[in-house]
Order: sequence, then structure tokens, then C-alpha cells
Amino acid sequence: MAVFRSDPCGIICIIITYSAVFYADYVVIWHLVIPAMSNTLWGTFCVILFNLIVFLMTVSHMRAVLSDPGIVPLPKNGLDFSDLHAGRTIPNTKDGWSVCNKCETYRPPRAHHCRICRRCIRKMDHHCPWINNCVGELNQKYFIQFLFYVGMASCYATTMVVTSWVMDPNVTSTYKHTKLIHSVILIVECVLFGMFVIAIGCDQISSILGDETLVEQVKKEGIRREKRSMYSLLQEVFGRGHPLGWLCPLFTETSKERSSKQYIV
Ligand SMILES: [Zn+2]
Ligand SMILES: [Zn+2]
Repeated sequence: MAVFRSDPCGIICIIITYSAVFYADYVVIWHLVIPAMSNTLWGTFCVILFNLIVFLMTVSHMRAVLSDPGIVPLPKNGLDFSDLHAGRTIPNTKDGWSVCNKCETYRPPRAHHCRICRRCIRKMDHHCPWINNCVGELNQKYFIQFLFYVGMASCYATTMVVTSWVMDPNVTSTYKHTKLIHSVILIVECVLFGMFVIAIGCDQISSILGDETLVEQVKKEGIRREKRSMYSLLQEVFGRGHPLGWLCPLFTETSKERSSKQYIV
């Protein structure tokens, strides 16, 4: 189920993201590779590799943006929550299911209500304006893949700036000024985005391995869960496929693999 939120902050963040990506691609191709390495096979290889990283980043981003993060379905027939309206709270069930008084539905353990999505999201981590969507049970994998490829693109573009200046130090004085300005802007962009994704990526990995989402950390729910291996915690996010495919956004889980995660209300 494809979803797209009409949240202005999220839409602005998506425009900023793609503007930054297109600018980086433009500078790498037209100001770093073509003037310095246009006649070499190495130049062609650099352009293909950078665009491959950009392609994988775009696919993972679009999947994180458009996929269902794990929205708890609303009941087909309205449930009787007159107790809620009368100011009485309905106690949580023993197996961890609770009631959302905004969605007026029962929700499975670890689901939380997102104010921006206006729905309960299973294993909600946080609402991220950069993907204009919640990071939840079903799209956290794509979000982490996106962070990984942004980090890779930032490192690669920085390396390209250095390589281009080393390989073509005698650039003409009129062009030197333009190249210098683009190089500085690109380095600043790479440092900002690179540091941002490293910080968020570390948070994501520590919350997966600690088996506690960011929402649960903030709410200090301190739920005791059985101790699980690092591999099984990572599998819960990245799927049951081979670990070599965990960072590839082109693979999708089969419906059979996903069906184990579906809850019926
Ligand atoms: Zn809700
Ligand atoms: Zn949300």
C-alpha cells in the first residue's frame, strides 16, 4: 500500500534532499570528472560508480517514502469505546495490546500513535521529515539503507573533489574560480549530510540491538523482553534473506515472509 503524507515540512525536506543530490551529481560529472579525467577509462568508471550509488539511494529513499510503515488498520465495524468518551481508561491487555483513544481501535504491542500520520504505527521508531513518513516495522530497513547510501555518496564525492584537484592541478585561471566554488559547496554539503547520517545511523543500530525503539526510549517504557541474539534482532528489521542482501533496496521480502508480521484487528 503506497502512502504519501501532505505534510509541508516533509515535502520541503524531500525537495531539499533531491536538490542536494542533483547538485552533487552535476558537480561530480561536469566540474570534477569531465575536466580532469574525460579521456580516461577511470573517468567513466567514476561517473558510473557515483550514479550507481545515487540510484540505490533514490530507490531506498522512494521505498522509505512510499511504503506502509506498519499502519494499524482501523476496525471494519466501529468498536464500542463509550468508556473512553466517558473519561474512563480501558486497561491494557495482558498480551501487550492497548487502545488508542485517537484511532479508537486496539493496537498490537509496540505500536504507537503518530500525530503527523494521524494513525497508529507498528513498532514506530520516529516520524522522519526527510522521508515524509514514519519509520516503523515495515520500512525501517529502507530508511537505514537510505542513510547508508547517503553516507557512501558523501564519502565518494569528497574523494572525487580531492582526486580531481590532484589529477588536474593546472586548471586554467578563469575556470579555477568556478571549480573552487563548486568544490567548497560540495564539501560542505557532504560534511553536513555525512555527519547527519552517521549520527542517525548509530542511533538506529543501537536501538535495534538494544531492542528498544526511539519512541520507547523517550517514553521510558522499560519493557522487559527476552534476550535475543544480535543476528535475530537484525533479521527482524532486514528480513530473513542473506545478510549480503540487507543493504540492497532492490530486494523485497516475499508476501510469505511479510505475512508473519501482519496483525488482524
Ligand atoms: Zn492511534
Ligand atoms: Zn508518522
